[in-house]
Amino acid sequence: MNFHEYQAKQLFADYGITVPAGRVARSPEEAVDAAKAIGGEAWMVKAQIHAGGRGKAGGVKYSKSFDEVREYAKGMLGTKMETYQSAGVALPVDSVLVTQATDIAQELYLSVMVDRSTQSITFIASADGGVEIEKTAVDNPDAIKTLVVNYVQGLQPYQTRDMGFALGLNAKQVNQLSKIMLGLYKLFNEKDLALVELNPLAILTDGNLAVLDGKINSDDNANFRHPELVEMRDIKQEDETEVLASKYDLNYVTMDGNIGCMVNGAGLAMSTMDVIKLEGGTPANFLDVGGGANKEKVTEAFKLILRSPDVKAIFVNIFGGIVRCDMIAEGIIAAVKEVGVKVPVIVRLEGTNVDAGKELLKNSGLAITSADDINDGAKKAVAAAAAA
Ligand code: GDP
Ligand code: MG
Repeated sequence: MNFHEYQAKQLFADYGITVPAGRVARSPEEAVDAAKAIGGEAWMVKAQIHAGGRGKAGGVKYSKSFDEVREYAKGMLGTKMETYQSAGVALPVDSVLVTQATDIAQELYLSVMVDRSTQSITFIASADGGVEIEKTAVDNPDAIKTLVVNYVQGLQPYQTRDMGFALGLNAKQVNQLSKIMLGLYKLFNEKDLALVELNPLAILTDGNLAVLDGKINSDDNANFRHPELVEMRDIKQEDETEVLASKYDLNYVTMDGNIGCMVNGAGLAMSTMDVIKLEGGTPANFLDVGGGANKEKVTEAFKLILRSPDVKAIFVNIFGGIVRCDMIAEGIIAAVKEVGVKVPVIVRLEGTNVDAGKELLKNSGLAITSADDINDGAKKAVAAAAAA
């Protein structure tokens, strides 16, 4: 799950990490009330969406009066915001975070994630952070520091100090960084997170470190033991089709091609997308219907795929290992009839009772094309989509 910045900052505060005073607002008047409650002379008004890159998209505004706070909040609330990090999707701005504005001397980058290559929780930091961090990673990779945490010892204070000095911080800042890193490490473990990113972690003109932005992604597999996190979920920020899919226990990811894919098993689903690409096509989705694919699941899967108007052909690629191919064929036929599929459907079946399955498809009277193997199926799907 992804979290809003205001939720991330609340979690940071719960773990002893100081964040600038702030309050979430859902109307321009609430934003002004928030600024009044926070006090001071300047405030940031920040669109709350599940994507970074808000600054460049006009979703982060420095305001010097209550009128400006009101105007900026009014300009953001109720709109949909697309950023270079929102993957071509415009996300609804239902709330803004109003925070005390700080004066920045330097923007650092700090993140924590599970690094699969070392199978360890890893910190990544740079003295050259801010909105150009992706550019830094490409142009000046030496400016990116990593710290791999040994999972038996856990994060040690000497390691956080090393990191601070590597970033060129002074003694006071190193102590502040240590507190932040140790807090993040505890938060990361206790809440089963997958990624935390502070960008920027700023050095202010008064020399103190300040957490100005926070992004958190948690591991969905651990949702069952974190009802307090699940409560924070904002479904309106998520892909509608993916939310529907999760209700039916289908692993679905929306993509931007035109060939719908229905496959059993995540590995086979990945290979199917690869082979479609190899044949010159582009998949419209990743979809793993799971090992126990039955008629109901197949029907729901067809419905999900057909929600996208871009889909010009559907490639069903099923290996009957646990399930029988004839049962799958019956499911496909029933689903195609029920859903009223208008685009070409190409089916590749392999495994138990494959001949009976193919026979059923052939005699169904429906425009279902049978494929001999994965390459043949992908080729036929790509040709069908191109012809549409
Ligand atoms: P993002 O663009 O979605 O990552 O949103 P951020 O919260 O990171 O804000 C974008 C940029 O706005 C930051 O990199 C800062 O340069 C700037 N910014 C954020 N908070 C403050 C603040 O308190 N004071 C000032 N002067 N700039 C800020
Ligand atoms: Mg940021």
